[in-house]
Amino acid sequence: MTALELLIDFYKNTERQGPGSTSETIKALNLTNINKNHAVKIADIGCGTGAQTITLAQHIKGQIIAVDLFPEFLDKLKLRSEELGFQGKIITLQESMEDLPFDKEEFDIIWSEGAIYNMGFEKGIKKWKKYLKAGAYLCVSEITWITNSRPEEIEAFWNKEYPEIDTAANKIRQLKENGYSSVEYFALSENSWLDNFYTPLEKQFSAFLERHDHSEKAKDILEGHKEEISLYKKYKDYYSYGFYIAKKK
Ligand code: SAH
Repeated sequence: MTALELLIDFYKNTERQGPGSTSETIKALNLTNINKNHAVKIADIGCGTGAQTITLAQHIKGQIIAVDLFPEFLDKLKLRSEELGFQGKIITLQESMEDLPFDKEEFDIIWSEGAIYNMGFEKGIKKWKKYLKAGAYLCVSEITWITNSRPEEIEAFWNKEYPEIDTAANKIRQLKENGYSSVEYFALSENSWLDNFYTPLEKQFSAFLERHDHSEKAKDILEGHKEEISLYKKYKDYYSYGFYIAKKK
């Protein structure tokens, strides 16, 4: 197995592939002023196994196109949405977020939790804007510094992992400079990181190692995650995911 195949195997058995929660998905949805009695069209980009896609389907009328690069994640979402009777309401689509087959002004909302970093926040907000109707919403979560300065160890770690990490003020400025207005923002709770993401991942560390015969590549994946988790626990007062709710002008 390649490192990528291992990573997919590592993530496909958990409910979430990034920090988040049902209540924060609903909170972000409520910060848009879409009329919940009207059918809307939503793209959920980098949906993973679709925890947030299901929550959206439970709270809107209309249709959600759930996009991810990896069929292993989409298959899980498809199964779950069929179990819940959402076939037709949730359509899965295997495409890259960098090259989407959408029409201009097709969507009322573009949703993306913990995924835009794969192409970079600025590139994403620029490229996706054309798919939104005028006055439609972009709802994205993105790793964010929540203080103006922080210890060198954590600054160095995240600048290496994702150099676009920044403060909410700078992310909001970027959104405004790129044709979005009235940006709402909140930071995800600690429980979204630990209870909903890191703890479920940790619970399957040993099964993952066993499945892959304790291979070096499998161990490397766990080591990387252990470092990230222990840094989070040490420095969680300095960063989180920010949820940005921005309206296209
Ligand atoms: N939204 C989900 C998953 C977040 S993890 C959640 O919050 O739980 C990031 C997701 O982006 C993964 O599912 C990964 O497969 C997907 N991804 C990575 N690169 C991508 C790309 N180029 N195009 C589409 N999806 C991509």
